[in-house]
This record gives sequence, C-alpha cells and structure tokens, in this order.
Amino acid sequence: MSEKPEHFIVDGKRLDGRSVDELRPIKIELSPLDRADGSCYLEWGRNKIMAAVYGPRELHPRHRQNMTKAVVQYRYNMAAFSVDDRIRPGHSRRSIEISKVGRDAFEYVVFTKFFPKTAVDIFIEVLQADAGTRTAGINAASLALADAGIPMRGLVSACAVGKVDGEIVLDLMKEEDNFGEADVPIAMTAGGKITHLQMDGNLTKEEFYEALKLAKIGCDKVYKLQRQALIEKYNGEYAENGEDAMPQARIGDADE
Ligand code: ADP
Repeated sequence: MSEKPEHFIVDGKRLDGRSVDELRPIKIELSPLDRADGSCYLEWGRNKIMAAVYGPRELHPRHRQNMTKAVVQYRYNMAAFSVDDRIRPGHSRRSIEISKVGRDAFEYVVFTKFFPKTAVDIFIEVLQADAGTRTAGINAASLALADAGIPMRGLVSACAVGKVDGEIVLDLMKEEDNFGEADVPIAMTAGGKITHLQMDGNLTKEEFYEALKLAKIGCDKVYKLQRQALIEKYNGEYAENGEDAMPQARIGDADE
C-alpha cells in the first residue's frame, strides 16, 4: 500500500492534478461480451471493470423464486490480479457487502414486477482496481442492464465523494480513499433519488450536505456520459438495422 501523503491538495490541485470537483476520465464500451444479454466495459481512471447481465431468466433453485417479481442478483468480484498484492479468489466480507449494496442500488429501478419468478443476474468483474470500484461497478451494471433491454425507471449513476485536507472532494483516488478523512460512495437516478449511500469516516452535518451536492454534480456528469454511450451505440445501429438493433427484453424467457 502507498504511503500517506503529507498533503492531498496543493495550490488547489490534487495529487493527480485534478480540481476538487473533477472526475477521473471515464471510458465506456457497450456490448463487449457476445454471450451476455447485456454488457459494458468501463474504465474510470485506472479502474477497469467488466459488467455482464443475464435475464430475465428462470431462477434456480425454484424455492428462491418470487411469484410476484423478478429477483435481482448482483455479484461483485475482484480478479486476483486487480491490485498490487494478489487477492485470494472467492468471496470475502468486502465482496459480499459490495454485492449486497449493488443489488440494493438496482432493486428500486428495475421493473421487477414485469418478470415474476425470474432472476436478473448482474456480474461485476473488477479487472484492475484503483479506488471507487463499487461505484464504477454500479455505473457499468446500469449500462449493461440497459444494453440487455431490462425495463428500468432510468439509469443509475454513481460516484464517491469524500474529505481530504479538510475539503470535500469528488471521486476519490486511491490515496484519498485509503488515507482521507471520509469516503462516501453514492448512487442515484437522474432525478436525484438516492439508491445507494455508504459512509466511511466522519463529516459534520454541513459537510455532509456539501458532499451530497457535489455527489449530485458528479452523478450528473456520469449520467451524461452513460446516456451518450447508449445514444451513440443504438442510434448508429438503429440507423442501419431499424427496430432489430434495439435491445429487447426477453419477456417469454422464464416460461421457455
Ligand atoms: P472501492 O473500490 O469501492 O473504493 P474500498 O474503499 O473498499 O472500495 O477499496 C478502495 C481500494 O482499495 C480498491 O479500489 C482497491 O484499489 C483497494 N483494495 C480493496 N481491497 C483490497 C485488497 N483486498 N487488497 C488490496 N487492495 C485492495
């Protein structure tokens, strides 16, 4: 692990040269996986994330089916080679926690009532980690769900805000995440409905509201990039192939 820096902000610039309200660069590629119903590869700074979505499909074992709605399942996994020290493969307390909050982030937005007895499976593979992987995973999952044609209230966009050197900053990098005073990952819909919020560290009430405001700005920026990626992919394909190019939810799958 890197050493705690003496200062996180010098002359208004952070360690990687960003200002306090600047996101790391984001790159999005839709549908990189042929076998998933929807997928997204997302780079955010040095984070590299793959999201795959399957479903709605019949849920096994059957006793886990819900007669009135689809069950959203979310699995977050870090590849052994995703960090400097090799990670032990398999579940950890952290991956179980992130999988749970990831699922909760989408429970509200997916129209689960349309697909009783089915599962919507979301897989997040972190190929390279550099702080903010849970929020990057949520952003990639949101796009993979849209790519799979899963009906949703809207996209979910996420980013982390935090506090370093007494200042509220957007999108923590590794040193800020590890050694900062607070880390607050947040996910929300375009309308500002919060579907995920965690907090590590301490903030005063005023700082918390400032952090929320900054998170909204960050999530709006992420949302614009997500929307743009979908428009670019599907506008192009629609122009070439018409309706056939659009993502279709496989409503009949569960009974096939
Ligand atoms: P997030 O990735 O959502 O910010 P954390 O705050 O738990 O989640 O982790 C911050 C960063 O610390 C991760 O992105 C990763 O770079 C690093 N990290 C997390 N877990 C491990 C681990 N077991 N071994 C090495 N580095 C880790």
